[in-house]
Amino acid sequence: IKWSEGKGWHDAQLEPYAPLRMDPANMTLHYGQSIFEGLKAYRQTDGSVALFRPDANAQRFQRSARRLAMPELPVEAFIEACELLVRQDRSWVPGVGEESLYLRPFMFASEVGLGVKPANEYLFMVIASPAGAYFPGGIKPVSVWLSEEYTRAAPGGTGEAKCAGNYAASLVAQAEAAQQGCDQVVWLDAVEHRYVEEMGGMNLYFVQGSGADARIVTPRLTGTLLPGITRHSLLTIAEDLGYATGEVQLSTEDWQRGNADGSISEVFACGTAAVITPVGTVKSARAQWTVGDGEPGELTRKLRETLLALQSGSIEDRHGWLHRVG
Ligand code: PMP
Repeated sequence: IKWSEGKGWHDAQLEPYAPLRMDPANMTLHYGQSIFEGLKAYRQTDGSVALFRPDANAQRFQRSARRLAMPELPVEAFIEACELLVRQDRSWVPGVGEESLYLRPFMFASEVGLGVKPANEYLFMVIASPAGAYFPGGIKPVSVWLSEEYTRAAPGGTGEAKCAGNYAASLVAQAEAAQQGCDQVVWLDAVEHRYVEEMGGMNLYFVQGSGADARIVTPRLTGTLLPGITRHSLLTIAEDLGYATGEVQLSTEDWQRGNADGSISEVFACGTAAVITPVGTVKSARAQWTVGDGEPGELTRKLRETLLALQSGSIEDRHGWLHRVG
């Protein structure tokens, strides 16, 4: 779908996948007005196909657009574009289970010109790719590196938006994590470099206490971390399961201390791609520790199974999160 000043959204088209021709002076290449989303179509136990919370993605896309001075795509147009692509060939959606069809809606400036200003022309597109199970051999905890040198987002910046530049800025820290032998980077706040924010492409959760008294908490949305849709779904699911939940400010010292005295029993990350990933070991320039016994915790497994069951329609969709593709 195209957008241009004066004309608004127009020319929605379904086209075969093909390379784009780009003018070397395309404004996105120079000034980075580029935002995206990620959501999945899941095969339901009754054979139908459903998108999981596409309205939440559409709304986040609008917020990202506002932050990047881009036009807002109506929620219905966003969902319709996703549906159109899935409907084109439903056989791309794998069978019930962890496999899915990943959809990538995105928008970028398509105007040609040099000069820093919001562009007058944009292109919104959706592409799709089958996504396998993230852990084909069973869930495996990841190791994380606490990034104390680099920050992902600063107050007043674009941390809350899902824009391409945030990911470009994070690559060097991800490379540092890999050099340290870790799978993922954990971002801390930009001011004190103390408070845990999120992971490279996932939000974080901590289980305080254990058993029926467990409290499931996640870092508060400060404006510098991405409000993940999985994060929001899990707060709701944990409450539905009868657990206490909370949005907290948690420092790396709190984490290390809580780990040592057992008050933090499990830690996991969550996002559309990996659903739920347990965190096994934590490393920083000054310390290193293992979360629990380094194995996926009981609540981590339970929440993961509940979310997967919900996404495939095998348990009741109490919150109307499944959007059937008719
Ligand atoms: N944080 C970041 C930086 C991400 O890129 C993602 C993936 N979109 C998430 C968190 C998780 O968000 P969601 O649950 O909406 O996939």
